[in-house]
Amino acid sequence: MSSVNGKTKVFAVLGNPIEHSLSPVMYNAAFSELGMNSIYVALKVEKDKLKDAIRGLKALGIQGGNVTIPFKEKIISHLDELTTEARLIGAVNTFYWEEGRLWGDNTDGAGFLVALRRANFDFAPSKSVLLLGAGGAARAVGVALALAGIKNFTIVNRNREKAEGLANLLEKLGSIVSLRSWQGQGLKDAFSENKLVVNTTPLGMFPQEEEGPPVEEKWFAKGQLVVDLIYKPQETLFLQKAKAHGCQTLNGLSTLWAQGVLAFERWSGQKAPADIMAQELKRWV
Ligand code: NAP
Repeated sequence: MSSVNGKTKVFAVLGNPIEHSLSPVMYNAAFSELGMNSIYVALKVEKDKLKDAIRGLKALGIQGGNVTIPFKEKIISHLDELTTEARLIGAVNTFYWEEGRLWGDNTDGAGFLVALRRANFDFAPSKSVLLLGAGGAARAVGVALALAGIKNFTIVNRNREKAEGLANLLEKLGSIVSLRSWQGQGLKDAFSENKLVVNTTPLGMFPQEEEGPPVEEKWFAKGQLVVDLIYKPQETLFLQKAKAHGCQTLNGLSTLWAQGVLAFERWSGQKAPADIMAQELKRWV
């Protein structure tokens, strides 16, 4: 970054709030490692100014980048093309240029699969998955797992309509889905029936670490892989309970890293220095 000059290419993440984003440190470390004359900046966009922001980035020649809360869905109407994953998930976290067209992609689900593979998860179609939550992250994870061949899902969400929406989507992809209630026996039963359990809700995230999903330690089953997409704190109350019951656990850091590696390769066209990006993330989390 010491060589920012008239030829420097600019990449950006759009969001609001954005000050907490780890994307600039992760991607600028990657540019530096590869000796690329590029810079990645975090841009705070006012909530009603997304359209102007996209016109601005086109006019200014921003080369690509990412989008985060609250624009992951709203950006879709301002893009020229969507990848299959982004269209199915209904949300975009990555934008890039191809032949003069502005594309939207979603690397959250594919990143999650990379994280699972690194945790040696067996993708046999007979494996069944419990999703806690039915928001954007759940849609990304669910679609990725369904496209990877997983057939059986249980969804537990506070808002029933949203759970039904995700169930419909997964059923269209050939999955069998059961819905359980967020509280009590429904949730308890769902735990014993599934080999992979994924918390996609923000419950337990900094600074509300004490507010995990309403689950008891004894509900977890040995042999389960339990994932929390939260990475701050690195071990949520939810993961602590799973670990205490002998489950294998995985936090959200590896998904964050893997979706970042995939996004970098999308918008830069270069192979990402994945190890450097992981090291940089760990320094900042
Ligand atoms: P979202 O679209 O707003 O969805 C949030 C989900 O959590 C919804 O299902 C919502 O249920 C549920 N929820 C929220 N507050 C709740 C509460 N008090 N009680 C019960 N359920 C509650 O958010 P998102 O984009 O999916 O993100 C969710 C989490 O995933 C965040 O913590 C985010 O940081 C994390 N994430 C991590 C990565 C990564 O790379 N590690 C990537 C993406 C997201 P209702 O439908 O009932 O409102």
